[in-house]
Amino acid sequence: MTRTLRFLLGDQLSRSIASLDGLDPTLDVVVMAEVGEEATYVPHHKKKIAFLFSAMRHFADELRGEGIAVDYAAFAEAGGPSSLTEALRRAVERHRPERIVVTEPGEWRVLQVMRDWSELFGCPVEIREDRRFLCSTEAFARWAEGRKDLRMEFFYREMRRRTGYLMRGRDPEGGAWNFDKENRKALPASLDAPPRPSFAPDETTRLVLALVARDFAEHFGDLEPFDYPVTRADALKALDWFVENALPLYGDYQDAMRQGEPLLFHSNLSALINCGLLLPAECCRRAEDAFHAGHAPLNAVEGFIRQIVGWREYVRGIYWLKMPDYAAENALGADRPLPAFFWTAETDMNCLRKAIGETKANAYAHHIQRLMVIGNFCLLAGLDPRAVQEWYLLVYHDAYEWVEMPNVVGMILFADGGLLASKPYAASGAYIDRMSDYCNGCRYDVKQRVGPDACPFNPLYWDFLARHRKRFAGNRRMAMMIATLDRMDPAQLAAMRATADAFLTALR
Ligand SMILES: Cc1cc2nc3c(=O)[nH]c(=O)nc-3n(C[C@H](O)[C@H](O)[C@H](O)COP(=O)(O)OP(=O)(O)OC[C@H]3O[C@@H](n4cnc5c(N)ncnc54)[C@H](O)[C@@H]3O)c2cc1C
Ligand code: SF4
Repeated sequence: MTRTLRFLLGDQLSRSIASLDGLDPTLDVVVMAEVGEEATYVPHHKKKIAFLFSAMRHFADELRGEGIAVDYAAFAEAGGPSSLTEALRRAVERHRPERIVVTEPGEWRVLQVMRDWSELFGCPVEIREDRRFLCSTEAFARWAEGRKDLRMEFFYREMRRRTGYLMRGRDPEGGAWNFDKENRKALPASLDAPPRPSFAPDETTRLVLALVARDFAEHFGDLEPFDYPVTRADALKALDWFVENALPLYGDYQDAMRQGEPLLFHSNLSALINCGLLLPAECCRRAEDAFHAGHAPLNAVEGFIRQIVGWREYVRGIYWLKMPDYAAENALGADRPLPAFFWTAETDMNCLRKAIGETKANAYAHHIQRLMVIGNFCLLAGLDPRAVQEWYLLVYHDAYEWVEMPNVVGMILFADGGLLASKPYAASGAYIDRMSDYCNGCRYDVKQRVGPDACPFNPLYWDFLARHRKRFAGNRRMAMMIATLDRMDPAQLAAMRATADAFLTALR
């Protein structure tokens, strides 16, 4: 007799997840399933599917190693469970449990489905809080209630106080909450990024790679080489490596970009944290310990912890606070389809060619590539927010709707009208030139603003400001840019807008 079915989703691969609390190996069964609908509702990057299927299979083996019964449905095009509900229905028929226990999912869509399960299966379904997050959705809603301004910085300070990270009593370590001003250095040519460890595929991963190559051949991206950690033990090695080797310079060069160096000093831990192989709290604790041991400076450690207890928790809070309407936000009325080069990386704009090319190869691009190169282009060119959301959701190995959507809708597209960002992250080519070496290898001239050789970011930037002048005129943080726009020679502005128009018209 099975007492409790414990249904684990593919991004819930943590031994301490709430749905495994109180598990009795003699009576309970853990259910896991590689579900067709989840792998294909958007055509996820091949590496992302391989990573998740392999991590799920390894996690199931680890549970079995503890003597826990795992009912695991491997992906099968014909005959496999087509949806989470179908996978659970089959397990309920097999095991006839007294109750079902799950942990709340990361997507609004899945929560709606879960809420129907009790009635559907005639069996109590307990949905437990996902305690891996440091701020529950209820606590975030309480924080947001009655506030006019939901800026991340205020939330972050409260999270620092609540968690105690980098605190000296009631005060922040170093006398300031945020050392971002120190974290915008350009990368010196003489400085190399540290070589990364590689995690060779084992037999389980090789089987998954063969499955993905066969059944997901049409999906975006390169499947091999695949060298990503897929077990808890290897994830911990990746965290150790980051803290030892990259964290000390993480802050200084957080915004830098270099051709052929997709990772620089970034952690590449997001996919491991989001699927549960690492816990956000342990990543912050390791970084904080490195600071106290004198191994990493405050600007690096504060910057890293802010990304996790600040941005990561904050975007999740915004997602659950604003769904389901948030998905359809389009404050700037953008409606241009994605150009074909988002899928092929074939464009003369070197920064986009490199950032999208690396995305295709690795299912990864670091934050500044996502924000200030690809995201900046989406904003300035007025690309349709739904199409941009879908692209970001399917191309990155760490992408789940709760984290992708606020970053796209709020951070890059300003489609929520300024709920998340106090001003749009819009920049001309000069920013990309300052923070990278992309412009050296580009057919466009970053100094020119008009004509066929002008860096497209320049005319697009001024065209964007002119297009939305009325909306941004009242925004104090935009005052300098609007004043510059207003002082501009009308003939010069008209020439730039004509260049932008010609570029956008030719965009396919
Ligand atoms: C348009 C856009 C889409 C994004 N989509 C995703 C996504 O689908 N999934 C995802 O995990 N991150 C997303 N991010 C946030 C961020 O770019 C990635 O978390 C980061 O690039 C992952 O690489 P890393 O682990 O090397 O990060 P690091 O630079 O090493 O940062 C450390 C950790 O902080 C967290 N983090 C940093 N910035 C953010 C942020 N803005 N929001 C949430 N967490 C953050 C991540 O867990 C990350 O691992 C997006 C950002 C933008 C601008
Ligand atoms: S010149 Fe413009 S398009 Fe080319 S790499 Fe520089 S910023 Fe990108």
